Amino acid sequence: MKKTILTFLLFVFCFSLSAQKISTNKKALIASVEKHKNELIKISDSIWALAETAFDETGSAEILANYAEKNGMTVTRGVADIPTAFTATYGSGSPVISILGEFDALPGISQKASPIKEALNPGAAGHGCGHNLFGTASLGSAIAIKELMDAGKIKGTVKFLGTPAEEKYFAKVWMVKAGLWDDVDVNVSWHPGASTEADVQSGLSLIDFIVEFNGQAAHASMDPWNGKSASDALELYTTGINYYREHILPTSRIHYHIQDGGQVVNVVPDYAKLWVRVRDPRRKIMLPTYERVKEMAEGAAIMADVSYKISLVSGIYETLINRTGGAIMQKNLELLGAIAYTEEETVFGKAIQKATGKPEVGMDSSINPLRETDKNAGGGSTDVGDVSWNVPNINLSATVAPKDTPWHSWAVVACGGMSIGHKGMVYASKAMAMTMVDLFENPKMVQEVKEEFKTRKGDEVYEPMIEGPPPLNGN
Ligand SMILES: [Zn+2]
Repeated sequence: MKKTILTFLLFVFCFSLSAQKISTNKKALIASVEKHKNELIKISDSIWALAETAFDETGSAEILANYAEKNGMTVTRGVADIPTAFTATYGSGSPVISILGEFDALPGISQKASPIKEALNPGAAGHGCGHNLFGTASLGSAIAIKELMDAGKIKGTVKFLGTPAEEKYFAKVWMVKAGLWDDVDVNVSWHPGASTEADVQSGLSLIDFIVEFNGQAAHASMDPWNGKSASDALELYTTGINYYREHILPTSRIHYHIQDGGQVVNVVPDYAKLWVRVRDPRRKIMLPTYERVKEMAEGAAIMADVSYKISLVSGIYETLINRTGGAIMQKNLELLGAIAYTEEETVFGKAIQKATGKPEVGMDSSINPLRETDKNAGGGSTDVGDVSWNVPNINLSATVAPKDTPWHSWAVVACGGMSIGHKGMVYASKAMAMTMVDLFENPKMVQEVKEEFKTRKGDEVYEPMIEGPPPLNGN
């Protein structure tokens, strides 16, 4: 009992201490997100249930665009020749602070909001990367900033960018090319995760391309000498790639997905197709590896006596981090404090951990300190990278799933459709709005963030790794 009282007093003390430090404008932003909270949860749940994949996010984009419009923002749909890409802006003049909102799902991982693996719609897509929370939280921040502008407390422009197809094709690259960040001073973003921190780690640059082999069909037994096998070329090609793997840097990655290896056993296949991906934390290392992997397709085609074709899908840059911006975000996380969970949420988190074979430790929402930036970034890749080479980017990771949750899996879908995901989303919405207001209030801060961006970018000239229009109808 005594311990309980002491804990309570400590809580009251800490709470009032942090409450004191929160400025009036930040308190107003928090109140604004709280006011919209129920609507934001509804929006997120609708996008979660729709679970639309790359370039097919018509319903999800419309739900977000409509809410932005309903709240008085100016919406432009179909930007960068992408029907599901849009902007929602408010205010005028500088600074111009943008915020990213993703909303695409991943195929084949449909799941109920339950800690046991069970598809909501068998075979359908699911939000295994939490992008239903991503877009909604960011729009919540933008609307809170807009309301603070309406109250006459800050001046400038807030720009929400609805950015589709992050999981496949990387739509932001076309959006960057269309100049959508040209007028922006600083960009703010976040990503759902299993920990909370101001994210100052980069991701891997990557390039995606399609390799096709064309040969001559023939009867596999009666006249195979008349055949030229495209699948022989495919096998020789992947064998070459697998031998090459031993001789690339440990930071590099090569993946391939066989999309067509022939149809039946009694025909020498005249067509084969693969999707190939090369990655490295540094684009300068990734590019020569990409050239070598392309050459191998020619080698395989010569051996199998078939022709080959290589088509670029898209490529993305590693993320240019900004520690000055990270420090601003970090302060706001400390002001907000960690997310608190109910007993039911802890039980849910532990059940997810049990089902995925992880230690049953429950939720961890403690705020990590601002970490050192790892030069050899691991993990995945994101088209936020391309934005970050054009404007300084401040990034947040917020807890929406229990510790060690396998990402891009049913377990993330489950958490994103219930209160654990909702809490992370509301938290991110507040933290990003608070970081944005720091930038609106302090021109010097904007300048410092921009200076670090300039230094890190150096004399590198950004060139988008795409050719032609976005592949709206797939590859
Ligand atoms: Zn993601």
